[in-house]
Amino acid sequence: MGFFGKIKVGLAKTRSQLADNISSVIKSFTKIDEELFEELEEILVLSDIGCVTAEQICSELRARIKKDGIKDPTVIRGLMKSIIAEMIEGDSNLKLNTKPSVILVIGVNGVGKTTSIGKIASLLKKDGKKVVLGAADTFRAAAIEQLEVWAQRADVSIVKGTEGSDPAAVVFDTIASAKAKGADVIICDTAGRLHNKKNLMDELAKINRIIDTQLPNADKEVLLVLDATTGQNAVNQAREFKNVADINGIVLTKLDGTARGGVVLAIKNELQIPVKFVGVGEGIDDLMPFSAEEFSSGIIETEEV
Ligand code: GDP
Ligand code: MG
Repeated sequence: MGFFGKIKVGLAKTRSQLADNISSVIKSFTKIDEELFEELEEILVLSDIGCVTAEQICSELRARIKKDGIKDPTVIRGLMKSIIAEMIEGDSNLKLNTKPSVILVIGVNGVGKTTSIGKIASLLKKDGKKVVLGAADTFRAAAIEQLEVWAQRADVSIVKGTEGSDPAAVVFDTIASAKAKGADVIICDTAGRLHNKKNLMDELAKINRIIDTQLPNADKEVLLVLDATTGQNAVNQAREFKNVADINGIVLTKLDGTARGGVVLAIKNELQIPVKFVGVGEGIDDLMPFSAEEFSSGIIETEEV
């Protein structure tokens, strides 16, 4: 299955929520009036786009319809698609130009950090990069073992400590190993205990200090992983993490299991952090670089289009 096919399948639940409901609303109106806008806004809110963002989309829609003197409701779908695509447009490329460069992966437990690291490692490896993983989630032995399995699958190397060891020390060792091996990219896993904010903040600060002192000029991507199935809660997590870390991008996982894919819009629009990858399954190839155009088509266009 091609790239676009995969994202379409991954977005099937969101699409059936959003695109199909938009279709039936559009079909039930012969002219464009305020009631139509209200129904559309409600559909947007129900797919986790968020009230603020749904309202913005609808007011933009009103403005364009007025400006162009549009009378036909069937034109609405195409307009919405462009409005959404423009809204979520952003730089989704990873900036990894130095050798080595660093990707630090953060987020609460269970969102898909370790899995996404395996998938990103595989993408980079296929791109000809030499990758080293750092198992800095030392909180549980199982977390370290899980990253090891992903390192094997992606065929990249890994540096680990023992359970309970200092995460920053693991990052230090990973950097040393990457330098010795002449690696291109280091990807560090971290533990995600947001319930203890002070602890998390201190830990991230310590890891960042190690990276900044050991690799002062390296490109660094801090990626926040969010679980799309948690809907608006994912937006709240992003807000909390934004307060404690300089986040460069979002990895939004588990889109395949949810109708709440609209959360991408809320994250991008309300927090101004670009979504860089989307997860659409548990397999190694189930991570896609984010494309605003493909995403908006994937949630707005119906099957018959
Ligand atoms: P972590 O605690 O943040 O490191 O999360 P894990 O990487 O251990 O993932 C938690 C669970 O989510 C695992 O069962 C993964 O297989 C699953 N998972 C991660 N990403 C995706 C995805 O894109 N789609 C689906 N369906 N499951 C995913
Ligand atoms: Mg993990």
